[in-house]
Amino acid sequence: MAICWLNGQFVPEAQAQVSIFDRGLLFGDGVYEVAAVFGGRLLDADRHLVRLERSLAAIAIPSTHSAAEWVALMQSLVDQNGIDEGLVYLQVTRGVAERDFAFPASVTPTCFAYARKKALSGDPHAHGIALHTVADIRWARRDIKSVAMLAQVLAKQAAKAAGAYEALMHEDGVVTEGGSSTAWIVQHGTLLTRPLSHDILAGITRDVVLELAAQAGIPTVERAFTLNEVRQAEECLITSATSFVLPVTRVDGQVIADGVPGPITMRLRDAYLARAATLTARSA
Ligand code: PMP
Repeated sequence: MAICWLNGQFVPEAQAQVSIFDRGLLFGDGVYEVAAVFGGRLLDADRHLVRLERSLAAIAIPSTHSAAEWVALMQSLVDQNGIDEGLVYLQVTRGVAERDFAFPASVTPTCFAYARKKALSGDPHAHGIALHTVADIRWARRDIKSVAMLAQVLAKQAAKAAGAYEALMHEDGVVTEGGSSTAWIVQHGTLLTRPLSHDILAGITRDVVLELAAQAGIPTVERAFTLNEVRQAEECLITSATSFVLPVTRVDGQVIADGVPGPITMRLRDAYLARAATLTARSA
């Protein structure tokens, strides 16, 4: 029986319920995080919880738990559900109140978390994925990890309908990010990704991959790039907490380079997996 955590209690998922007046449901008034589980341990939970605090502060939801408290309850979910590889999802909404747009005078945030199994080290998508390009129609604060994601729902549905694994979002031909991932290309041996701003989510995997590239002596440049540059790239890749580093071999049906995972991409994927194994290794 799958166990989740809701407002301070561990309960069977089937019994976890929230009000129809929860502002997360009514307005998408909430934020979330997803962290990977590797070797039965949370990966980079500290970095995810720093971003959670930033998202909460950006929309003035008071923080309900310390990072240590979040880590303890997330790890407990991993243990109770027997997850070796997978993820923990956690969400905080402004809470339950009469439906009125402005913040309620007094309200307690709704918090919940659940865990899921997912193959991470043996992800079949590591053989190469297809992207489908869509116009980025999201709001102007994509750095806030908001649960209001209708634009991504539509983008990823369009990708799925086109037989692609992920959407590649762009504004007038300039790439912003993947539907739920950071987008990268390799050009003249240099790894490119868009610089941080309100235009994209500050990916935790993005940060780690920039660090790993520096350690491996792979040159990196943070600048925006176009769909044309993607089509002509030596390599294209996406990153996210629960896909790590995935090679892109097709965009809108067109083959990228020679249509096989690129060497820099696979070096970074291997380095990412090695780091994950080291960080989550249990001391005997
Ligand atoms: N951009 C968007 C829009 C996302 O939803 C995600 C996944 N959370 C990412 C980027 C990648 O972020 P992270 O590496 O922290 O998972």
